[in-house]
Amino acid sequence: MVMRLLGQLLERSIDRHLAVCILCRSGAEIEYGICAPCRRDLPALGHACASCALPLPNTTDHHCPRCLRKPPPQSSCHTCWYYAYPVAQLIQRFKYQRDLAAGRTLAELAARQLHPGPERPDLLVPVPLHWRKQLSRGYNQAQLIADTLGHSWRIPVDNRALRKITPTGSQQELRRSERLKNLSNSFACDPHVNGLHIGLVDDVITTGATLEVACRALLAAGAIRVSAYALARTP
Ligand SMILES: [Zn+2]
Ligand SMILES: [Zn+2]
Repeated sequence: MVMRLLGQLLERSIDRHLAVCILCRSGAEIEYGICAPCRRDLPALGHACASCALPLPNTTDHHCPRCLRKPPPQSSCHTCWYYAYPVAQLIQRFKYQRDLAAGRTLAELAARQLHPGPERPDLLVPVPLHWRKQLSRGYNQAQLIADTLGHSWRIPVDNRALRKITPTGSQQELRRSERLKNLSNSFACDPHVNGLHIGLVDDVITTGATLEVACRALLAAGAIRVSAYALARTP
């Protein structure tokens, strides 16, 4: 009961917050908490690698050189924006300053932009945080994004299918190969993903190492296919 009241209060305070643009504070043409001019200014990713969402200069290419050389385990990767101003700042606010409204705005816009076609996943699974990190942050940002996508696309979300079993600390300063090594065997996957097409959800794709390791854990547990979804991609 108390939790439900708290949830309603939080919801109402977010809705009030959404009456003005989360970026410029204007109140004009607000949709999902952001005004039309600010929406148009978000750094759209444009043409990108179908497997890892790396932006590609040549529009006739479908894959980046790395994915051509060694195809990643995920069958596709879908991302809305560059991890650049102001999307990067909104994601930082969402992750580290408890600005849930910023996260919800980006996730709602992403739900509309990335809407899956006929090959929709059976189940959405967020990239998990280690329980200790989730406890200190209070929430898992990927889970909140997956909830919004799942609600909009009418696909169930399972935030327990994948678990982070070993903490890996900050990966920010590490190169891709170091990240892969650091992350190996750090995810455990529940066998009920067996036979399913999974939509793996994260906030930002940086080197793709987390995605790759999480995806391998899902496939090893029997998932038949993994499609990745994220808000932003570092160039
Ligand atoms: Zn604005
Ligand atoms: Zn690629």
